[in-house]
Amino acid sequence: MAAIAPGGRIGILGGGQLGRMLAMAAAELGHKCHIYCPDDEVPAADVAAALTRAAYDDAAALARFADSVDVVTYEFENVPAETARILSAHAPVRPGALALATAQDRLTEKNFLKQRGIATAPFADVADTDDLAKALAAIGTPAVLKTRRMGYDGKGQAKILSAKAAGAAWAAIGKLPAILEGFIDFEREISVVVARGQDGEVAAYDPVENLHANHILDRTYAPAALTPALADEARAIAAKIVSELDYVGVMGVEMFVGRGDKLLVNEIAPRVHNSGHWTMDACAVSQFEQHIRAICGWPLGDPARHADAVMTNLIGADAGEWTALAAEPGAKLHLYGKAEARPGRKMGHVNRLFPLGKRPPVTPR
Ligand code: AMP
Repeated sequence: MAAIAPGGRIGILGGGQLGRMLAMAAAELGHKCHIYCPDDEVPAADVAAALTRAAYDDAAALARFADSVDVVTYEFENVPAETARILSAHAPVRPGALALATAQDRLTEKNFLKQRGIATAPFADVADTDDLAKALAAIGTPAVLKTRRMGYDGKGQAKILSAKAAGAAWAAIGKLPAILEGFIDFEREISVVVARGQDGEVAAYDPVENLHANHILDRTYAPAALTPALADEARAIAAKIVSELDYVGVMGVEMFVGRGDKLLVNEIAPRVHNSGHWTMDACAVSQFEQHIRAICGWPLGDPARHADAVMTNLIGADAGEWTALAAEPGAKLHLYGKAEARPGRKMGHVNRLFPLGKRPPVTPR
């Protein structure tokens, strides 16, 4: 397909902060965005040209929306397959159906990785309590039971410390189709935000280290303190995943650095990723612009880092510190325009910039 020239119309499914930052980046390239979201509050619509407020299963509204744009993308991976099918009859949907199907189901995702020789935690399919007993015997404890679908930010997960606790974990995840994973005694958690263009060109940002608090990303340190060889290996794994999926757009690839510098892929997110927010201020082309470039068939931007950065999420009441953050030298504040600062809600983030090679050490909160 020919590139979408400036003035293009981009449809974004989902109206949260990721959609908002995508819409702002699209505007910088001269495009106009149309947001599709069923929610009352739609932060992305504040910065977009058009909004359709309708349900994700409203076939007529989806068709009208897709007819009004040149390309459709999304800010969340749980887009129902039927929604994507309806949209793709009216406009190209990028990333495509294969990426959605792979990322929506932890078993499909892990099998996809395994078949391509990409290391993960040991895992097994768990459909019932018999499977769970067998999986625990094979994998051992500690282990993590995770629902195959719809899990995020630690939801739909239960840690199993001994085989005796299997029944409680099975109940805790709602007795849903699941996978059991061996619990990795990791040195650090990293991610690679990678982009693939329509012509197959791949550009990966530097691997970064992520710290979580209450199962939500708390901070990202850019770059991760890895040997150059390990950083290259992480980028190569991410590049292989997007190439194998014939992917178009930006993807977040989360990995564990296990003992002995072994890289294990935890999960993939077929969208822009919270661990890539640092690129807004520390790279010439942010992950949001990169995604818009990719889905519009433009050349990818240079992912090189011109500064080190520490990204801190502003969760709930954290955003109340905006006056101090706005006054802080070297800090760039991003707020998402959400009215109510509920606990656990992502309200904004701050990127603190440092000269190359000078970021502070990773310290737990
Ligand atoms: P996930 O929803 O799979 O991204 O998991 C959320 C978080 O739980 C990860 O970022 C890790 O901190 C932790 N976690 C998930 N799976 C494992 C595992 N197999 N071993 C150790 N920690 C894990």
